[in-house]
Amino acid sequence: MIIDAIKNGIVIDHIAAGKCMELYQILGLGDLDCSVAILKNVTSRKLGRKDIIKIDRNLELDWDVIGYVDPNITVNIIRDGEQVEKRQLKMPETITNVLHCRNPRCITSVEQELPQVFKLTDRANRVYRCLYCETKAGK
Ligand code: ZN
Repeated sequence: MIIDAIKNGIVIDHIAAGKCMELYQILGLGDLDCSVAILKNVTSRKLGRKDIIKIDRNLELDWDVIGYVDPNITVNIIRDGEQVEKRQLKMPETITNVLHCRNPRCITSVEQELPQVFKLTDRANRVYRCLYCETKAGK
């Protein structure tokens, strides 16, 4: 995979195959006014198959959200055609206002102004639970 097509932007690499659309939606990339390229099922030596997202602009991304979707993702920042930064991600301890609790009786369903906070409760299995009612975050 060649990244020189982008002069200034971000390449989100090593996304587990099939996860790029989840990441696309959770990061709100559809709302951007620049080019966003999605490459699915790219052959990778490390993963077998992977997805890649290229964004044709530099912008602040929510690193925690990316780490939540898949901590194995690497993010490459490209400036003037050169890779200036390679970022490794990690799973955040908590994630705020990204996921919504599915429990209709959860306090966050009633009190809409409360922040939606999910806490990492099982690192090995990447399980996040609602801070208030402990409902598991669902996909
Ligand atoms: Zn809840």
